[in-house]
Amino acid sequence: MTLFNYTLISLSALLIACGKGPEHASSESPGGIKEPTTPEETEVWSPVPDQVDPSGQNGAPSDAIILFDGNHLDRWISAADSSAAKWTINPDGSMTVANGTGDIQTKDDFGSVQLHVEWRSSLENTANGQAKSNSGVYLQNRYEVQVLDNNDNSTYVNGMVGSLYKQSPPLVMASVPTGSWNTYDIIYHAPEFNPQGLMSLPPNITVLHNGVLIQDHFHLEGTTEYIGWPKVSAHGPGPIKLQDHNDHSGVSYRNIWVRPLN
Ligand code: MG
Repeated sequence: MTLFNYTLISLSALLIACGKGPEHASSESPGGIKEPTTPEETEVWSPVPDQVDPSGQNGAPSDAIILFDGNHLDRWISAADSSAAKWTINPDGSMTVANGTGDIQTKDDFGSVQLHVEWRSSLENTANGQAKSNSGVYLQNRYEVQVLDNNDNSTYVNGMVGSLYKQSPPLVMASVPTGSWNTYDIIYHAPEFNPQGLMSLPPNITVLHNGVLIQDHFHLEGTTEYIGWPKVSAHGPGPIKLQDHNDHSGVSYRNIWVRPLN
């Protein structure tokens, strides 16, 4: 018998002797509430959750806000100057980064969200590293989920596809072949700040890439900087932004919807 096992057994015996046995051995909880004895006592009937059609418009849940359905960019503006978004809408219902026209962002601001985005790397883009179909999805205009073509293309792992840029590599690399459509399903919880402007609760992000969990409730330290450490400054709701990496990425997007979370 190891010293560790002996210590455990001795501790258990001492707790039993003191009447501190396992809680389920008692008919009362530590708060003194009597243990239920019928199934009905632990049933909750209200409030009843709202009903949502999981296959609403464009296959989005019926309570989602459709940010892009292939027809127009009315919900988007240029990030630089708030003018009309200038990316190219394609006949197949997608849009493509118009190189050099800059990032686009939603007109509306959001806090915590469930966000669905579909994106496609470009078959014509044969660059290497960070120049191969680089784009990105930003939450609250600050926190980037990287979009990149890493098929036969290596780069630093905290900047690869599905990374939370410069902070968290993806758990796995789940891309489809170059030129095929990827999905990102992102669960994002906005940070909270105290009255002094200090972050009391960091933002956290969960990402499913083509249905595969690649970021698991990761707590960001601050903004996702290209150069330098993450930055923290108090902020409220912000737009969702898509990146023009300004290197002829050729990245396309389609079928973007969001469900604000409270
Ligand atoms: Mg990027």
